[in-house]
Amino acid sequence: TRRKLVAGNWKMHGVSADLTEVTSIALAAETADADVALCLPATLIERAVRAAPGFAIGGQDVHQNEKGAHTGCISAAMLLDAGARLTIVGHSERREAQGESDADVKAKAEAALAAGLSVILCVGESDAIREAGKAVETVAAQLDASLPGSVAEASRFSVAYEPIWAIGTGKVPSTADIDEMHTALRARLVAAFGDAGSEVRILYGGSVKASNAVEIFAVPDVDGALVGGASLKATDFLPIVEAAS
Ligand code: 13P
Repeated sequence: TRRKLVAGNWKMHGVSADLTEVTSIALAAETADADVALCLPATLIERAVRAAPGFAIGGQDVHQNEKGAHTGCISAAMLLDAGARLTIVGHSERREAQGESDADVKAKAEAALAAGLSVILCVGESDAIREAGKAVETVAAQLDASLPGSVAEASRFSVAYEPIWAIGTGKVPSTADIDEMHTALRARLVAAFGDAGSEVRILYGGSVKASNAVEIFAVPDVDGALVGGASLKATDFLPIVEAAS
């Protein structure tokens, strides 16, 4: 059975004063019956790790190369050096605004896993694709093209299904639509990785809140959540962690 993972993605939010939220979340995570992590701005990672030793802190992106002339980018070794244990790759905000391709995302996932980080790989369709009735085929193809070649430890690799139209909008797919998508993604993971594919966690992301988390977590192939806005405050995030426990 897959232990649920509730990960927060702070995006471009968070300065020193917000570290108290990290420590509150970390304290509650010690007794939670789910894995909990926070993917922070790079500037906060090291301080968050010092403030909350033992708690899983992650980055939001990683470069595929080990080092080199890549202004503004961060390598897997740098994330590990700062104390991070995981990273997001392929978030739709980076695929769209930074023009990251499936091939880039695959390379980033492979680099992070090889370095020893855990990875949350994001996929998801636009509103137009959903309206056109092509969501499942589009996201399945996106996953196939973004997957790392292998996953040595399935526990270190997760997929997050994040419909772009549900991110930060308050809109959430029906549980039937989430179920359909997660079932399709599970089949792709098993096709790619065999038995390990049934151990990979598939998270749902997009307007997850305390008020909808219980219902979403009850969908069979939903193994947790990737939470944006509702991860910034412990008072919003911890009820979601509770719903997964
Ligand atoms: P919201 O929870 O703010 O909709 O963001 C979801 C997301 O993009 C997490 O990566």
